[in-house]
Amino acid sequence: MTRKLILLGATGSIGRSARDVIARHRDAFTVTAVVGGSDAPALAAAARETGARYAALADGSALPALREALSGSGIACGAGEGAVLEAVAYEADLVLAAIAGTAGLRPTAAAIRPGRAIALANKESLVSAGAAFMQAASRAGVAVLPVDSEHNALAQALGNGALGDVTAMTLTASGGPFRTWSREAIAAAGPQQASKHPNWSMGAKVTIDSATLMNKGLELIEAHYLFGLEAARLDVLVHPQSIVHGLVSWRDGAVTAGLAAPDMRVPIAHALAPQGMRLDTALPRLDLAAIAALSFEKPDLERFPCLGLAMAALAGGGAHPTILNAANEIAVAAFIAGRLDFYGIAVSVEKVCSRMVASEREAPADVETALAIDARARALTREALGM
Ligand code: NAD
Ligand code: MG
Repeated sequence: MTRKLILLGATGSIGRSARDVIARHRDAFTVTAVVGGSDAPALAAAARETGARYAALADGSALPALREALSGSGIACGAGEGAVLEAVAYEADLVLAAIAGTAGLRPTAAAIRPGRAIALANKESLVSAGAAFMQAASRAGVAVLPVDSEHNALAQALGNGALGDVTAMTLTASGGPFRTWSREAIAAAGPQQASKHPNWSMGAKVTIDSATLMNKGLELIEAHYLFGLEAARLDVLVHPQSIVHGLVSWRDGAVTAGLAAPDMRVPIAHALAPQGMRLDTALPRLDLAAIAALSFEKPDLERFPCLGLAMAALAGGGAHPTILNAANEIAVAAFIAGRLDFYGIAVSVEKVCSRMVASEREAPADVETALAIDARARALTREALGM
């Protein structure tokens, strides 16, 4: 019996790591469909490599290039939003949701169907529409399995324990490239410096989010929805070695933790494996003696204001996380394009949140409502940035 998989974001950083895991277990998995953004040659290569029956690109104008790249393969293809949804409708036991950003929201929500599990990397789905998303999953009886390394480690550390016995869940953060930099030096840093992540190799947006620590803030919100834990029991610890990814503190004083080398193939393999089973990744063993020391420190909200903004969004509830996420995506894109300095990201996000939050008290009841609020927040951010 093989597990049937659909890979959303098959050409990205997570998608490539997932394909590496799958390639080692050809007999365990059948990939039915793959989805990408706009890179036709890359998606065609992913489809050929995995033996998918269908390949879809979100960018409708890329269809001729995709047809060309797949010619002779017998793999069906399409492009545009309809094609992406067609891919999502293919048969699957598990869907890997690894599209970057809010673009992943609709396809990931559409992937929630009875009889499947969702291996979720696209944290923006939960940040933007967490309540609606988890409700839809629960109604369909669909398990949401965390791929994000911290949440995957937390799920493993939680095991079958009762949430009522948990006093805290702690997500670790590497601290990013600017962990030891002064506020003045960080203020002058450009996209090049912000893109040099010390431990992880990831997509562009999540890499900048790691430099601002917004990524950790989004992950707190993600953890809130995934585990159903309130803000008071969620916290962040900076841990530069990125070996301990998540810790669960219990009422009796015990702490259980999830450790692994910083390689996304570890949480991906855990999420893709049938429940209770483990897949070989052939990664080197974690050599703690060679690492020798693990250190921890409190996050500095003065130098990393984005983390504080995300904490405020989590505490505020309603549509605050939706607005924060949308404003952040636009501000990060502006930073990457050289239109905004590093602290301009936090300033823009704060401005848009303070202008919109009061009139958006309700958490979006469904994905379309979340996307409508998201669109308003984006427009306001662009306007504020003169874009
Ligand atoms: P990436 O930019 O490397 O890849 C994104 C993928 O999404 C690509 O396959 C791209 O073609 C596809 N895509 C982009 N726009 C699309 C659209 N409109 N429709 C369909 N597909 C589209 O990003 P990544 O680093 O792989 O991250 C993917 C998700 O996983 C993000 O939500 C990120 O926060 C999360 N995540 C990533 C890492 C990591 O180590 N890379 C770790 C934890 C969580
Ligand atoms: Mg993470």
